[in-house]
Amino acid sequence: MTKARDNKRALRKYFRGLRRDLPVSEKHQAAINIAQQLLTLPGYEKAKHIGVYSALAEEASLDVFSELAWEDGKSLYLPVINQSSENNQMDFQAWFPEAELHSSALGISEPKPSLNSSNFERELTQLDLILLPLVAYDKSGHRLGMGAGFYDRYLEKKQANNSTLIGIAFSCQETQELPRDDWDKNLHILVNEKNILYFD
Ligand code: ADP
Ligand code: MG
Repeated sequence: MTKARDNKRALRKYFRGLRRDLPVSEKHQAAINIAQQLLTLPGYEKAKHIGVYSALAEEASLDVFSELAWEDGKSLYLPVINQSSENNQMDFQAWFPEAELHSSALGISEPKPSLNSSNFERELTQLDLILLPLVAYDKSGHRLGMGAGFYDRYLEKKQANNSTLIGIAFSCQETQELPRDDWDKNLHILVNEKNILYFD
């Protein structure tokens, strides 16, 4: 076990605790504030394809944003984990707010596989914006996830080269500097319930 890995593990525990302790009413208001700010981002208007996520109870919800973006005519996609692939690869599958979800083996809600979103089509979808959940972020745009590296591995793919990566968080998840491994992908933008941060 390397020092960096031990360090990340301790930070995950600490920041997940902070996130869990937020009152439900604050989380609800945060979802509204985050949605409003996302709509003002310079890249939002032009974006056609947006990768969102289905939040765990402790994470910042994108439900408010997804409804508004769908009404705006955006195509939305949710992460799905391909368990038959090597290392459980993550991909995005087309979805809309009323579409049924089912709980994956990892306990995360995913859209049901549908005939019109085959693996082949998924591979070709280039997302303009990807909204990423996170456990902590720092002032340089480094992101700490839940520890499976799903986004880091997905973002290695060619179709993610031009995606704008937007971390979604509560402000209590901010820290001065996070440990960073070679494979960690940096965020371009961070949106929390209070403000928007743009990274170099
Ligand atoms: P998270 O990003 O969820 O905080 P880490 O950055 O610690 O998690 O990554 C978790 C694991 O994912 C790493 O130990 C590494 O083995 C694996 N991983 C991440 N990115 C890649 C990659 N591009 N190729 C292969 N394995 C990767
Ligand atoms: Mg990482």
